[in-house]
Amino acid sequence: MPAAVAVAGALSAPAGAALDRSGADSDRMLAHIKHLSSDELGGRGNGTPGLERAAEYVAARFRDARLQPGGEAGTFYQTFEITLTPEADPRRAVVISGSSRETRFTLGTHYHPLFVRDADAPSANAAERLALVFAGYGISAPGLGYDDYRDVDVAGKAVIVFTHEPQENDPESVFDGQSLTPYAGIQMKASEARQRGARLLVVVEDPAHVQDRALTQTWTEDPQIDDLGMPVIRVDRARVARALKDLDFNSAARRIDSLFQPQSRALPDATIAFDDSTAITRARVRNVVAIARGVDPALSREAVVVGAHYDHLGLGGRHSMAPSATGTVHNGADDNASGTAALLEIARLAAGRRLPRTLVFVAFAAEEIGLIGSRHYVDHPPVPMARTVAMINLDMIGRPRGRVMIGGLERTPALKARITALAPTTSLRLDGFAEGYQDGASDDASFFRAGVPTVSFFTGFHGDYHRPTDDWGSVDAAGCAEIAALALDLAVSLATSGKPF
Ligand SMILES: [Zn+2]
Ligand SMILES: [Zn+2]
Repeated sequence: MPAAVAVAGALSAPAGAALDRSGADSDRMLAHIKHLSSDELGGRGNGTPGLERAAEYVAARFRDARLQPGGEAGTFYQTFEITLTPEADPRRAVVISGSSRETRFTLGTHYHPLFVRDADAPSANAAERLALVFAGYGISAPGLGYDDYRDVDVAGKAVIVFTHEPQENDPESVFDGQSLTPYAGIQMKASEARQRGARLLVVVEDPAHVQDRALTQTWTEDPQIDDLGMPVIRVDRARVARALKDLDFNSAARRIDSLFQPQSRALPDATIAFDDSTAITRARVRNVVAIARGVDPALSREAVVVGAHYDHLGLGGRHSMAPSATGTVHNGADDNASGTAALLEIARLAAGRRLPRTLVFVAFAAEEIGLIGSRHYVDHPPVPMARTVAMINLDMIGRPRGRVMIGGLERTPALKARITALAPTTSLRLDGFAEGYQDGASDDASFFRAGVPTVSFFTGFHGDYHRPTDDWGSVDAAGCAEIAALALDLAVSLATSGKPF
């Protein structure tokens, strides 16, 4: 996102902009925020009971407003599956069979998964034994004259690689010497292995980082994994070395560093058994969807979506800005109990309005773990995307203090004209998004990728962002209500006019 696109300066009072304002109720909104961000709801982590309670709270408010359910089977819920934390479980094991011995690696103790496969990629199962190939650092950098995969075929096999990169402490290295190049990243290594048809990537510390327990520690404190292409496991190096007697990690690394030649080779006597279905856990979470049906026979087939994510980080973890506070409730009052409260208030006020177009209200789950809820909505909309004329997103609107940032207008100038028309009706200063906000960072991205014009409301990052201190005490409820009123007026205006743009 470019630096502060000042919308405010461009806004002038148009003639005849007076709209029927329905005052949003700041007390009501603050009550929603207090409840959603309470310790009782545990930070609304995906896959936790706190998120389910929040979903039921949102659905109950939609019901109170006498909105129609927009979810599956006559309910307010759209249910979908997410990938979650695997639990340390001694029954879940990886087994490496060497020439004469079998070595078990227990989940959480001797190995942990870093990534899992795509849901549609072929899975391994416990009964299947994959052949093992050692591939040095797992790096293919032909431009630097180095390719661990040059002489080995890894298709259908498991590949063992080191973390980091060759010649790492050598300032003369063709890599970057003391600072790591992108080749050292696990995701890059996974992608190289995957492109060559490997079925599993087994990662051990390189000899320069035998004491490096950083990844293991992160996993222990916050066992979450990403769903990225192929299974990748981090395995206890010393235990692998004992299991594979004819593979000497230290001498292989020394030879790579000194000769700058790959030392990759198949390990003909060794196999590994790995059941990736036991390495991942899935949970069901729910978007909460309500509909205010339009009354115009033609226009009611079209919809304006108002959305806000209601999930947050639970007890912290991978996405927390305070990793040492993992285990503490991340209350998420601003992110995004505030946007959820605005959504509920807009839904309540719009419910009885009998507008020409249909309004759809959505509280998204699983935003914090990759905009998954909004992607699910876009793939399963109650009103087709082709007839969704606009989406209004509210994410972090809790700290306006006199102004609000509005994003997305540069993509749809006609929306900017709509906002401009509403500017005189609000006491808030309207700004563009400030630097530091990444376009596509919230649920509006799922809609603009689907070709729907979007507008997003945001009141800025702060020191409590993604920390346990994002509490309701710092919320400016009156300002939130002003934003809700503005977003409501925008939704009404989009749902009313013959041509939205
Ligand atoms: Zn958010
Ligand atoms: Zn967030």
